[in-house]
Amino acid sequence: MTAALYPGTFDPITLGHVDIAERAAVLFERVVVGVYDTPAKTLMFSTEERVDLARGALAHVPNVEVLPYHGLTVDFAARCGAAAIVRGLRAVSDFEVEMQMAHQSRAIRSDVDYVCLMTKLEYSFLSATLMKEVARLGADVDKLVPENVARALAARFASAPQPDAVPRFLNA
Ligand code: ADP
Repeated sequence: MTAALYPGTFDPITLGHVDIAERAAVLFERVVVGVYDTPAKTLMFSTEERVDLARGALAHVPNVEVLPYHGLTVDFAARCGAAAIVRGLRAVSDFEVEMQMAHQSRAIRSDVDYVCLMTKLEYSFLSATLMKEVARLGADVDKLVPENVARALAARFASAPQPDAVPRFLNA
């Protein structure tokens, strides 16, 4: 069985990520979406929440499973029995980063290869970081994220303190 690992932070999973996972599921018999637990980024959702959101968003793809992981991505790929690591490309700028990661990973382990898949044009501008920022400011992101993620974002912002309408120094 040819398996692939699609690793990432998925904070939270967007329709761009879903698009890549669906494409990988056509090419590989089994796809593990690996949710990295300790990225060097400030996270909005915990590992458990990111896994749950990704599971909900990909429940319609039977040969995809979502698992958390820590440590080296290449080691997790080998533990999953994955022949390839799948990554999504939005633009040439992604390619440069992925190329560097692929060579770095190959220097650690040569038995796992990299496969980059191009996202749909409509998601080529979509980044989870930017999406969270505009969602926090009240923009409608329903066309950018799966329904379960849109609900989770709405709940998160409803319970978070709202940004001050008036700059703080004016209230001092
Ligand atoms: P990482 O922090 O490892 O980049 P992300 O969760 O941001 O993790 O992204 C995981 C993978 O999904 C990466 O390969 C990234 O390039 C890709 N990706 C992110 N956004 C999109 C998108 N809109 N369309 C296609 N691929 C995407």
